[in-house]
Amino acid sequence: MKSPGKELRGFRSFLCHMNSFIYFAFILFLISSCNGVTAKNTSSINNKSKPLVTFVFDDGNETDYTVARDIFSSQGEVACTAVVTNWVNTKNYLSVSQLAELQKDGWEILSHTESHPNLKTLSGSQVEAELSKSKSILENLGLTIKNLVYPYNKTNETVKKIAAKYYRSGRDGGSMLNPYILDRYELKSYSIKHDLSKMKSYIDNAHSEKKWLIFYHHQIDAKIKISDKNGNLILGENLFFQPSGAKGKYTASGIAFPDTAIYFTPLSGIPHADDTITGQTSGATGKLDRVIYNEKEDIKDMIEYIHTNYPEMKIVTIDKGLDFMEIP
Ligand SMILES: [Zn+2]
Repeated sequence: MKSPGKELRGFRSFLCHMNSFIYFAFILFLISSCNGVTAKNTSSINNKSKPLVTFVFDDGNETDYTVARDIFSSQGEVACTAVVTNWVNTKNYLSVSQLAELQKDGWEILSHTESHPNLKTLSGSQVEAELSKSKSILENLGLTIKNLVYPYNKTNETVKKIAAKYYRSGRDGGSMLNPYILDRYELKSYSIKHDLSKMKSYIDNAHSEKKWLIFYHHQIDAKIKISDKNGNLILGENLFFQPSGAKGKYTASGIAFPDTAIYFTPLSGIPHADDTITGQTSGATGKLDRVIYNEKEDIKDMIEYIHTNYPEMKIVTIDKGLDFMEIP
């Protein structure tokens, strides 16, 4: 028969073994989570990763303010504008006060260099100047600049290394989603194309794979097919559409068919087929036969698609996206 003392000693030894076992299991857990941080696409990482969407407007076009600002604010969302410092305050580009207002709204202002060169073709010191000056110029205007967009989506190891001296991240193209573990000096992005169902499929994928989808776009415009043109529209004049009540700003005639297609900035309302178009200054008129595309409505549609189908999917700036991805 075992004495109670012996039984207690046995229990203590059992506890001691249990402690070693728990300690061992804990070490194993630590090792596996460390591996998890360096390996891509493990399930633990996907669990941590979140579905995110970011909209970036490259080049700092005026339509970021005149069109996109309203699209995003009416949906309670924000976007980013990537600014070329030499183009600020010039025709068709954002002014300093518009940039300040966008930032106040919660938009992120990104650097898109000083003169928009292909950085891969420059010397190290030229890249250094483009990346450092664009940041300091914008910061001296009172803007917060943390992240970079490479012109033409072009970068290489040298450029990335210099970008790392001044920025938290750099974005190029690549038409890929961003995984949880990512090279933050090579954030991947998709260009917004006139194919809404494709754009929505990217959103579906980002949601199901819990990845970060970055869309980029430039100037926001609309293209329509017209007929019965009477007189000549003047570049930059306001266009009125009746009976829809929509307004726009005439930007160009169709290259191949100048009399049957025009481009304009969609400012307010939604132009419809059979509207009569009138140029405010020229008095020229025409009939709207068909809307070929209206990027304002498309982008609005994309945001609504996210809100309706994936309410938990966040629309974030680049800087917030990096925070969500727990990137330093
Ligand atoms: Zn650009």
